[in-house]
Amino acid sequence: MRTLSVQLVFHTSASGKPFLVAEPLREGVCLMTRRLFWEDAYATEFDATIASIDGNQVVLDQTAFNPRGGGLVSDTGTLAGVKVLEAIKVGEDSIAHVLESAASLAVGSEIHGVIEWSRRHRIMRMHTSAHLLSAIFHKQTGALITGNQIEPEKSRIDFSLDDFDREKMLVYCSQANEAITKNPLVKTYFMKREEALQIPGITKLASVMPPDVKDLRIVEIEGYDLQADGGVHVKSLGEISKIEPLKFENKGKSNRRMYFTIP
Ligand SMILES: [Zn+2]
Repeated sequence: MRTLSVQLVFHTSASGKPFLVAEPLREGVCLMTRRLFWEDAYATEFDATIASIDGNQVVLDQTAFNPRGGGLVSDTGTLAGVKVLEAIKVGEDSIAHVLESAASLAVGSEIHGVIEWSRRHRIMRMHTSAHLLSAIFHKQTGALITGNQIEPEKSRIDFSLDDFDREKMLVYCSQANEAITKNPLVKTYFMKREEALQIPGITKLASVMPPDVKDLRIVEIEGYDLQADGGVHVKSLGEISKIEPLKFENKGKSNRRMYFTIP
């Protein structure tokens, strides 16, 4: 593995603006990839410096590629014109881009990245839909999420729910669609961990606790939901336009699965 001998570290200027400083790399310290998709989920192109190359996996100082994880599939696109098959999380805070081939790339060089936007925007709309659905199911039944798979064409959510009543679940879906017509804002911000964990329902995932970090990233659908979450979302619910339930499945004692799509 070829790596830079410096790491890029965030500092904050007097005016509060973050800026990067190259500092000597300390052993055991993993490079942190700046997550441009947290700053602007609508950024489709970006410039970055190659921090390391390991086989076909390339780590950059910053990226707009949202990696696979938390039930979301990865973005695809190109880096320096080479196909990005997927982006994955490595170590604590790094993101590696799995390329078709990294043979033409060199550590330290500047490259341009392009996100495949039509896929990414559907993932964002699907993901916010899943948050909205889980908020409404949770409010109506107390159900927690036991699993989810967010993909561009079809997504699914698993709820821990004793009842298996299709009619009721269809009603919850109409309530979600009613919320979409009101077009509330979807906001993201950071909150102190201790403060965030006081909020009831801050995590509706049955098995996953928020990461052990000082500040948690919060995704808020105004008036409907507040979740600790690291993924990409739309700016307001109207962008979803409509949630179309496809299928409800009974997956055992108290596990219910819902498949849905969007236009
Ligand atoms: Zn999420």
